[in-house]
Amino acid sequence: MKLTSIKEVREIMTRHGLVFNKGYGQNFLINEAIPRRIAEECGAEADSGILEIGPGIGTLTRELSQRYRKVTAVEIDSKLIPVLHETTADLNNLTVINADILKVDLNDLIRREFPDMKVSVCANLPYYITTPIIMTLLESGIPWQNITVMVQKEVAARLCAAPGESEYGAVTAAVLRYGRVMRLFGVSAGSFLPAPKVDSAVIRIVPDPVPAYSTKSELLMTRCIRGAFSQRRKTLVNSLASEFSELSKNELLEAVLARGYPADIRGERLSVQDFAAITDEIYDRIATKKGKGKEA
Ligand code: SAM
Repeated sequence: MKLTSIKEVREIMTRHGLVFNKGYGQNFLINEAIPRRIAEECGAEADSGILEIGPGIGTLTRELSQRYRKVTAVEIDSKLIPVLHETTADLNNLTVINADILKVDLNDLIRREFPDMKVSVCANLPYYITTPIIMTLLESGIPWQNITVMVQKEVAARLCAAPGESEYGAVTAAVLRYGRVMRLFGVSAGSFLPAPKVDSAVIRIVPDPVPAYSTKSELLMTRCIRGAFSQRRKTLVNSLASEFSELSKNELLEAVLARGYPADIRGERLSVQDFAAITDEIYDRIATKKGKGKEA
């Protein structure tokens, strides 16, 4: 069975009475070289476990299962489960779970599926929820060895951007709080059935073993990043004013200047360390103001 053959994919789908579910972002790989390359370059050690998100009909799953100790694949579409049982029947190191990856208790799943194993994520992600999935993986606190995923080319460019580059934005900064991102290779739209409108790219996120910054408040830093990119054309101070009603625009300006940044700096020039520094300054100023409010 050749799962990357268009004829074979169509035959399997027809036999199971299935159509590609656009709502679930179902674009299956039909370029034989790609699943092999993703599996080879996903950066995991042979003795480690792999969490695959959205196995589809099992094309990448098979490549992963042949190379790594254990694979657990989480697929939302219950109609694909009988297909997966058929296409992966010969694999004895695979568990298929029918669930929404955004709703499972990831920590519990990893403990159950991969006891005493290093774990990596490897997936051709459904494009409609790429960012929520990546953020859920990063925010879970699970010590992933790495996260290798295929995403839309434009999303890859955003995630791999550095401060000052036009693609750098809130999502880039949010991901950089957790790790380093690198682009592995591009994949043309014609490598999928059905072909999506845009090309794709495979990226790898390597989580930082210790955070690359420290801040007095993670929550405030999230607000700081969100605020900084909420109005891209405005200066950082003007953008932050819409997020932090606790401080006046002048107080926000003082906070930015106090950390040595120019008054007209924009959010897109700031690294996560810069955001942490400005967050701490805002934190102190809010705390002082609250303290004074209590005294009065
Ligand atoms: N891995 C297959 C391949 O490369 O050919 C299929 C990839 S396809 C782009 C995305 C897959 O993710 C589909 O099988 C889809 O049903 C599944 N999916 C979509 N949303 C999901 C979710 N929330 N949780 C788990 N799987 C999901």
